[in-house]
Amino acid sequence: MPPTLTSTRRPTDDATAPAAPATPAAPLPYVLRFDAIDLASLPLVGGKNASLGELLRNLTPLGVRVPDGFALTADAFRLHLQEAGLTPGIYEELERLDAHDLPALAATARAIRERIAAAPLPAAVRDALLAAYRELSGAAGAAGAAAIDVAVRSSATAEDLPTASFAGQQESYLNVRGEEALDRAVRDCFASLYTDRAIVYRRERGFRHADVALSVGVQRMVRSDLGSAGVIFTLDPETGFRDVVVVSAAWGLGETVVKGRVRPDEYLVHKPTLAAGYRPILRREVGTKAVKLVYAEGGSRPVREERVADADRRRLVLDDDAVLTLARWAMLIEQHYAARAGRPTPMDIEWARDGRTDELFVVQARPETVHADRAPRFETWHRRGTGPVLVTGQSVGTRVGQGGVRVVHSAAELPAFRPGEVLVAPMTDPDWEPVLKRAAAVVTDEGGRTCHAAIVSRELGIPCVVGTGAATRLLHDGQAVTVSCAEGERGLVYEGRVPFQRTELDPATLPLPRVPLMLNLANPDVAFALARLPAAGVGLMRLEFVISTWIGVHPMAALHPERLHDPAVAAAIHERAGRFATPAAFFVDRLATAIALMAAAFHPRPVIVRFSDFKTNEYAGLLGGEPFEPLEANPMIGFRGASRYYDDRYREAFGLECEAIARVRAMGLGNVKVMIPFCRTVAEARKVLAEMAAHGLERGRDGLEVYLMCEIPNNVVLADQFAPLVDGYSIGSNDLTQLALGVDRDSELLAHVFDERDPGVERLISLAVETAHFAGIPIGICGQAPSDYPEFAEFLADLGIDSISLNPDSLPAVATRLARRMQAPDGAPAPGRPDTRAPVFGT
Ligand code: PEP
Ligand code: MG
Repeated sequence: MPPTLTSTRRPTDDATAPAAPATPAAPLPYVLRFDAIDLASLPLVGGKNASLGELLRNLTPLGVRVPDGFALTADAFRLHLQEAGLTPGIYEELERLDAHDLPALAATARAIRERIAAAPLPAAVRDALLAAYRELSGAAGAAGAAAIDVAVRSSATAEDLPTASFAGQQESYLNVRGEEALDRAVRDCFASLYTDRAIVYRRERGFRHADVALSVGVQRMVRSDLGSAGVIFTLDPETGFRDVVVVSAAWGLGETVVKGRVRPDEYLVHKPTLAAGYRPILRREVGTKAVKLVYAEGGSRPVREERVADADRRRLVLDDDAVLTLARWAMLIEQHYAARAGRPTPMDIEWARDGRTDELFVVQARPETVHADRAPRFETWHRRGTGPVLVTGQSVGTRVGQGGVRVVHSAAELPAFRPGEVLVAPMTDPDWEPVLKRAAAVVTDEGGRTCHAAIVSRELGIPCVVGTGAATRLLHDGQAVTVSCAEGERGLVYEGRVPFQRTELDPATLPLPRVPLMLNLANPDVAFALARLPAAGVGLMRLEFVISTWIGVHPMAALHPERLHDPAVAAAIHERAGRFATPAAFFVDRLATAIALMAAAFHPRPVIVRFSDFKTNEYAGLLGGEPFEPLEANPMIGFRGASRYYDDRYREAFGLECEAIARVRAMGLGNVKVMIPFCRTVAEARKVLAEMAAHGLERGRDGLEVYLMCEIPNNVVLADQFAPLVDGYSIGSNDLTQLALGVDRDSELLAHVFDERDPGVERLISLAVETAHFAGIPIGICGQAPSDYPEFAEFLADLGIDSISLNPDSLPAVATRLARRMQAPDGAPAPGRPDTRAPVFGT
């Protein structure tokens, strides 16, 4: 009689079953259908299968699609080892092994694997396996029980614990079709419990080999070989920032993404506004996606790698609807796991899209292990020197590592690697883990931020730069390098030992002074990490910084490449625009992306985005800028700030800035406010407001607040007249000092005269605060002075200023100083956190 598919619960465990000691014990279940499994089944079916069952049972009713299948249990595995005469011998052999003796480890592990794979499956296991496969084939809708293609995946019983990912430890086989191929794949999975890396991993995490068994999942294939697939994290894997879902995507089967064979597309979705009904795709980034894994019909191997056509490489894999569906599913899955665990449970999910039907599926989900239980410490590295940059790629983690280069093309070259070297490889293989953890840093040619090498490096806390394209060619053995992941998303490999300083801080220990502290921040790459600081928001996001570092193209040139005299420049601009229909569309998208990332990082705290304030000489330096910028003798007091926005020479470009901001606010990120810089007269303020309104940014509509920089003496003197036009003032002490003292702030000759603490400047600032308050609007400061001089911050706090915006570096010192002063005016250090409700400063 063929074995039937049974439920998880063993008859002997059933407390409600009537006691019937006379009946013989029921046979152990070797097969369980996914819909009979949940997380409680982990000891029997391993983490991966338990999770699939949990998803299928609990999340399909909510609309999440999961392909069906079944698990071959750990009991089947144990019986296989037992019947093959391998246990307990192999356990003793493994416990005796010196894990640092890599050649001995490799030889022993290989011998064990070969014996496991060669032994025939026990008859009872094979019968159960094939019966379940036939049933699945029938259920898949094929005529009769024609053999369907399945994925055969290992699922170790110690897998996916909150502290250990076991990611990629054991094998998976895709496009397995037919009974004999299935039988073979199952034995190969069994054997893969004893890969070198899995043995080392278990030993280092204190698991006894005998305590870990292997279940095998057999799952209906999603034809993503004809479609696409990828990975989802329900937090930013780099920083642990919890408010985003990160979806990566590539063409073909998902292995290329998981194993880092390609640099996938990446999409970031903001959770709180998605939950509120918006469509907040913060970022869409095209990956290189050079290859894809497809079915190899007729060949000896079931799958093969294929080059991706250029047009497909350049385009996005996912449309917005698909990205949002996946993000919603990921949030549902995360919520389900969190409710079960009783604590936040960020998830790492694999998805696939069937190319025949365009249907999306979740094919795996497990708790994310790196950030899950880690207290949010705040580590910063500051570069204190420089050197030539040899290669760049995507940074993984935020650390810096130094050492001599060791280029390793394949596992055969691994023995040459010495601890403390920088491992440089086309791509690391999961098998290399024992070596990886001794590296000072890892640099790869291929891969994206969610590939296996990235996950492992992150877990080990090793700086890693992936997707450099050419590191194995450009770096050579023995060369001293510094690998920096501390400078945002771009990972840099410098020649030589570049000095870095490391500081560590627990943001939760910082005091909160009564006057809100904000941040001057324009680099969205570091926004998620810095959002942990106890800042009240971003007091100044300078768009000109975003334009120069993220876009590099003059906005008028983006709008009118046809007006450029140099065809090479026009071609370079089109090249940069990549997948976008026009360079202007590219410009708006990049600007909106940067603003959206910043707004999401600090949401719901305010982010004050300041319209661009380049000087003409700076604008001319952008790609295509020269023909659009007049030559001025004194650009510092020239065609800059508000004066440009309503002028025919720039009006259209200003429209692009407005469009980007409007796009971000339409994502539900209403915490974005705007600020007008260098506004010389009241009439000019009116013109700019009208221009903004014409481009979809009307003050007051949907709560839009408009701020004005208070940085020209006229802004101070006429504060009462500017005030009714805006919602707040922000003092630009840099320009205000320049214009009060008549000192060009860029002049080295006069640098000794430039000082914001001059009594005249201080008096102007006092007057500004007083007049703004008299006119009933709040006033903050975003100039450099309080960041450079903590005593200046005290002076401002005493004036009753409403906020102080600082460089992130300066925030801890200023927060501490202001809080101490507030607690104890005589200067005595205050223990613990201040009572932020105490009204110490009055206005
Ligand atoms: C200022 O002038 O103080 C200011 C913050 O603006 P920027 O330095 O960009 O001119
Ligand atoms: Mg200024």
